[in-house]
Amino acid sequence: MSHCRFRTSWGGVLFCQDPVYLEGFCKFHYQALERGEINEAGVLHERLSDQARRREINLHGIRPPEGIYLED
Ligand SMILES: [Zn+2]
Repeated sequence: MSHCRFRTSWGGVLFCQDPVYLEGFCKFHYQALERGEINEAGVLHERLSDQARRREINLHGIRPPEGIYLED
């Protein structure tokens, strides 16, 4: 796999498209792992209560399919 293995919960099937940095994650998601914001499976921790940060992690590197727009 040449891209990050973080999979967004948005849509359920989209992977972050950033290149792998470490542990199969891109730099952004690896740092989130180090901060304990996601686990090694790439799942957001429930205790991360900052909705803006959750959204940032969840949507990082995601390119939505043509014709679909992510609401702001
Ligand atoms: Zn990523």
